[in-house]
Amino acid sequence: MLTLIWLVAILLAALALAYLNVSGIVWSAAIAGAIAVAWGMHIVPEWLAIALSAVFVLLAIPLNIPSLRRKLVSDAVLAAFRNVLPPMSQTEREAIEAGTVWWDGELFSGRPQWRKLLDTPAPALRPDEQHFLDHETEELCSMISDWETTNVHQDLPPAVWQYIKDKGFWGMNIAKEFGGLGFSAYAHSQVMTKLSTHSGTVSVTVMVPNSLGPGELLAHYGTDAQKRHFLPRLAKGLEIPCFALTNPVAGSDAAAIPDYGVVCWGEHEGKRVLGLKVTWDKRYITLGPVATLLGLAFRAYDPDKLAGDKEDIGITCALVPTTHPGVEIGRRHMPLSAVFQNGPTWGRDVFIPMDWVIGGQPMLGRGWRMLMECLAAGRGISLPSSGTGMAKLAVRATGGYARVRTQFKVPIGRFEGVEEALTRMGGNLYMMDAARTLTAAAIDLGEKPAVLSGIAKLHLTERGRQVVIDAMDVVGGKGIMMGPSNFLGAAYMQLPVAITVEGANILTRSLIVFGQGAIRCHPFVLKEIEATRESDPAKASAAYDKALFGHIGFTLSNMARTLVTGLTGSHFVTVPANVAPETRRYYQQLTRFSAALAFLADVSMGSLGGALKRKEKLSARLGDILSLMYLCSATLKRYEDEGRQQADAPLMHWAMWDAMFKAQSAFEGVISNFPNRLIAAVMRRIVFPLGRPYFVPSDKLGHEVAKLLLEPSATRDRLTAGMRSPTAGDGPVAQIERALVATLAAEPIEAAIRAAAKEGRFDPKVPAGGGLDALVARAVAAGVVTADEGAAVITARDLTAKVIRVDDFPQDLGLSERQAPQVQAPAPDVVHKAAA
Ligand SMILES: Cc1cc2nc3c(=O)[nH]c(=O)nc-3n(C[C@H](O)[C@H](O)[C@H](O)COP(=O)(O)OP(=O)(O)OC[C@H]3O[C@@H](n4cnc5c(N)ncnc54)[C@H](O)[C@@H]3O)c2cc1C
Repeated sequence: MLTLIWLVAILLAALALAYLNVSGIVWSAAIAGAIAVAWGMHIVPEWLAIALSAVFVLLAIPLNIPSLRRKLVSDAVLAAFRNVLPPMSQTEREAIEAGTVWWDGELFSGRPQWRKLLDTPAPALRPDEQHFLDHETEELCSMISDWETTNVHQDLPPAVWQYIKDKGFWGMNIAKEFGGLGFSAYAHSQVMTKLSTHSGTVSVTVMVPNSLGPGELLAHYGTDAQKRHFLPRLAKGLEIPCFALTNPVAGSDAAAIPDYGVVCWGEHEGKRVLGLKVTWDKRYITLGPVATLLGLAFRAYDPDKLAGDKEDIGITCALVPTTHPGVEIGRRHMPLSAVFQNGPTWGRDVFIPMDWVIGGQPMLGRGWRMLMECLAAGRGISLPSSGTGMAKLAVRATGGYARVRTQFKVPIGRFEGVEEALTRMGGNLYMMDAARTLTAAAIDLGEKPAVLSGIAKLHLTERGRQVVIDAMDVVGGKGIMMGPSNFLGAAYMQLPVAITVEGANILTRSLIVFGQGAIRCHPFVLKEIEATRESDPAKASAAYDKALFGHIGFTLSNMARTLVTGLTGSHFVTVPANVAPETRRYYQQLTRFSAALAFLADVSMGSLGGALKRKEKLSARLGDILSLMYLCSATLKRYEDEGRQQADAPLMHWAMWDAMFKAQSAFEGVISNFPNRLIAAVMRRIVFPLGRPYFVPSDKLGHEVAKLLLEPSATRDRLTAGMRSPTAGDGPVAQIERALVATLAAEPIEAAIRAAAKEGRFDPKVPAGGGLDALVARAVAAGVVTADEGAAVITARDLTAKVIRVDDFPQDLGLSERQAPQVQAPAPDVVHKAAA
């Protein structure tokens, strides 16, 4: 019995020490104590106590003396680690090292410090930014009919191009000292969100110069002369920029571009200067067909060592005027139904002076790092905003439509099947907007959150697509028949653009989120990798030893925390005292997820090593857990920042339960598919010791969410805040808004009329074809309702009829007037230097 108590006490003590992640000395003292108790109280035979003591002394002494520990343990593990570490190219390393770690580091820590998140100031607009949103941005929207842009002009009208340039839309992220608007990331995101609720074409046209491109690259890496010359011209739209990275043979694997430049002497403006002869073949380049300034990425080579002592210098970025001899700008691609300018460009042996390299000669070969650094921040703004903008449009207009459109004499939004889709739309949008805002706030704090911006890009475009697909199902034929009355079809067709660019979503999910996240956000992995690269053996040994033993403690601690929080339902996890009581349990659950993710990540990396990189399905699911934790954090932060709006609580609760259930499925997906079944069985016992506790959000909660989309309210306004004023103009969105208000006003009047008819106060039998007009006229004549009330019923009927109407066209749909598509003109072969 005593032995049993002793064993249980040892087990509990070990769990507690691991949970608290105590130092090696404390572990040693505790083990010594346990042996002493066993010996002193004769719990074990004396010979066993002596043997245990001997083993303990043999292990404890070297493990607690750093120099001995390094020699006996860490150095051997370091040598083995060097052998198993998959080779990492320079470009891979630069991609992984780009940017900063912020809240993602906390999510990976096993014990996120929620105060840090809650203390992050909620982003706010400056007066000039608010003015720009309310005036210039609204005005730009009012100048565009997306239908006409797409189907009549097949381009933005000239006045719109001019307005974009004159009002500085292309200089939002250029500092005021260079003539730009100098907007915060949040203001930039607000502008992109608003434009995306109105027209995909104008949104992309404004987005690209503010995103990863010449302006951003010059601001961070340009020489003073380049900044002084180009930035004011870009800010005022005197230059139209584009950035060309993608080659037909290198899309996602952009670091493998075969486009090349050879360092050589050449003639420029009558002078002999050092420069590069560049050959490129690029496609899909946004604004390419109208660009005046071509940002170009290519691999620089220096066979004659004219610029230094390296032959293969690496990826380099340069700015080339499109009027420069040899620059070929192709015709236009047709990106789905959007008509933003996009096309190919190529050139062969085009000489450019060294001054045209962004940052000049010292930045030769630094292009990939530049691109990755800028992407780390930029990816968190444009596409998350466009995905969220399209979702706002879909939620606002579809909710209204589902209320005014009736079938079987019931608004379609009240059918449970439709309600289910509306629920997903509302819950997703609440979470998307929260993540968009939090990511912009992080960038405004000076972060370049490489992993979080990847998460925001991936999940906000993906959820944006889901919201629009749901909306299409809700509106039925109305979403399918294209024409100026269709508010959804264009967004539905254009969403795949956002899915594909700036890191296609499958790649981002499978390779980037966890691949980069595990290395960057993990407190020890990058330190271990860096130690393998250290050339000084003593420094390498010391650094690796520290990281290795820190890592072991971290893993044990997370294992214990995962098990304990699983067994106790994480009820004892401490969270900041002043969070909204209704969200308290979510913080506790997310802390449990954090420990479990860190534990699973360590076990996966430890047991699969380099093979994990090829196990994309496992890596994607681990990335999903990290992503869902980020989306949940943003949702909780939004709820606090907006003053815990009780009316919005169903949206918050639904989004949290949906995400927690999905995170549980991702855990389950990793464990069920883990190659080593024994490890999988142990993981399951530790992660889900009492089974799987999370459920899909209830139908009752879903019903409350859907209701919020169907009628005007402060919640509906908050959910769709920042969209183009929904009542502006006479487009389909404004028509729905008007019909919705009119319908809600008319319904009680109609009910009174029908009740009066039932009571026999007037004869409701109207002549054939008389319809509602005759019925209302009788009710008015009988004094059941006033003339104004009668008119309100007719107005609602007419406005609704306008909403449900779709467009029709001439017999040939106007196709005979359109140009037949042509295959792109052949570009010159771009041959890799090595193959030439
Ligand atoms: C409308 C539009 C505008 C664009 N604008 C520009 C621009 O201005 N400048 C510019 O340089 N480029 C631009 N691009 C190019 C864009 O960045 C590429 O399309 C993108 O990098 C993907 O390349 P790809 O289309 O060749 O697809 P591929 O690379 O062929 O990928 C196809 C699929 O395979 C997946 N995949 C690839 N590798 C992996 C992997 N290792 N693991 C898992 N999945 C993987 C991808 O996720 C994708 O789903 C634009 C593209 C579009 C469509």
